[in-house]
Amino acid sequence: TPDYATGLDIFRAAVAAQPQMDAIRYFDQSISFTELDAASTSFAAALLEHDLQRGDRVGLYLQNDPAFLIALIGTWKAGCAAVAINPMNKQRELSYLLGDSGAVALVCLDDLYDQVAKEVISAPDSAVRLVVTCSALDHQSRSDERVLGGTVKHTPEGTLDLDTLVAQFADRSVADPGLTPDDLAVLTYTSGTTGQPKGAINTHANLAFNAQTYRDWIHLKAGDPVIAIAPLFHITGLVAGVMTALLLPAPLVLFHRFEPGVALDAIREHQPVFTVAAITAFLALSNAPGATPEDFASLRTLYSGGAPIAPAMADRLEKIFGAYIHNVYGLTETTSPSHAVPLGVRAPVDPVSGALSVGVPVYNTVVRVIDDEGNDVPPGEVGEFATSGPQVVAGYWQKPEATASSLPNGELRTGDVGFMNEDGWYFVVDRKKDMINASGYKVWPREVEDVLYTHPAVREAAVVGVPDEYRGETVRAFVSLTDGQTVTPEELVQFAKEQMAAYKYPREVRILEELPKTVTGKILRRELRDTNG
Ligand code: ATP
Repeated sequence: TPDYATGLDIFRAAVAAQPQMDAIRYFDQSISFTELDAASTSFAAALLEHDLQRGDRVGLYLQNDPAFLIALIGTWKAGCAAVAINPMNKQRELSYLLGDSGAVALVCLDDLYDQVAKEVISAPDSAVRLVVTCSALDHQSRSDERVLGGTVKHTPEGTLDLDTLVAQFADRSVADPGLTPDDLAVLTYTSGTTGQPKGAINTHANLAFNAQTYRDWIHLKAGDPVIAIAPLFHITGLVAGVMTALLLPAPLVLFHRFEPGVALDAIREHQPVFTVAAITAFLALSNAPGATPEDFASLRTLYSGGAPIAPAMADRLEKIFGAYIHNVYGLTETTSPSHAVPLGVRAPVDPVSGALSVGVPVYNTVVRVIDDEGNDVPPGEVGEFATSGPQVVAGYWQKPEATASSLPNGELRTGDVGFMNEDGWYFVVDRKKDMINASGYKVWPREVEDVLYTHPAVREAAVVGVPDEYRGETVRAFVSLTDGQTVTPEELVQFAKEQMAAYKYPREVRILEELPKTVTGKILRRELRDTNG
């Protein structure tokens, strides 16, 4: 049963329970729950002063900085909803997201304003009428001056600086906006690995439910510092980071932007207990110069989500982190987790496909494995995951057709194929659209990648299908190599050939310095597929 109805209720309970606790730790600065309360009220007052109405959207075009929380909570206090925008987005993408969401206000880093947002906002069709800018601290520029939004570098003309705003509206109070659980809390856009981004309507009820899932499933306690390694604009950073920390309540450790060395310093300094990150981020962290297992001693509850984990990689990382990395699975449309491996339990590896289980459905969540007609298939048989539960979004923002096809009767067609074994563990075989059809045989890239990961020289692997005159499609692998190791493409082809059926093994292996990834750490198979030749 949910404890809280809205994100704002969760925040208010945190302020009441722990007014002096650090809500945010950011390099050498900290912001208490009371200070965050005051700053977010000022932000709400500024929105109301600019005539924002209930339900209006406010874009957050930020990195993992305190400004994100001030603006998010302030937006809710004004009765509005946030739009989480990837700070890597360029003009074309920002323009699409602002237009699609109809945002009337935007909070952005001043660098992003100068380089990207300014031009988008000055376009004749832009609906944005209030821009709040802020600067971030970065690793090099720690400051003695204590500021909420960051150091004030400059305030571009026509915009309002966040720190000035907070000071200007410091004595204001705002009336309770009367939010309801079904109100839109945040529009989170699907990352677009599969087409035009769609805004998932994450309601307050969705967020509150899955923050509670993380807390209860993982047995987190008040005061256990949480570190946001995943970006806050992504649903996992938002729920496993911001919402979970507010719910506990506990300090949220932020460090602007993921860089392995900076993340390592934040871990050393703030001793976080819990994080959810992509497996590629754990890998990068383990390779940070100077990293030793002692550095990770505080991080006892580790979860990895967003992309498959190769069993060989999980074993390798467990040795470095000294803790087992649990799998968690979900989509933007499930507001982060629909499945997780229970704390302290080792997920099984399927003996046939070699896949590591993504766990079991979390509380109140039903996941059917279905065939193309929507009928349940028996345990062990492969089908599409169809998920229903309190964390599943009701739809996409102003996209009734996509909503109807992805969420028939409120049940989410995930586009992931997999199976449930006899014991109730779920295994993702792969994404439906990534299947390779080689000579009429189905090849699932993940299985081939898992085999490549067992080679000691392979740091990361991605497998794609490329058009082939004879076979229809043929299997091609891209790998990056572990530091100090060498191997030739031919040796890797041979290595794979010895371990799998003739139609599955990659006919070609290409070695790259780095594999292309999204900011959330997902390897972009699509980009590799598009590589010519
Ligand atoms: P788009 O929907 O535009 O393609 P995206 O898939 O990157 O973007 P997300 O909602 O962030 O958007 O990702 C969800 C997908 O990530 C799932 O459908 C699944 O394919 C994959 N995924 C998430 N967690 C896991 C996991 N633990 N193991 C395997 N795959 C996972």
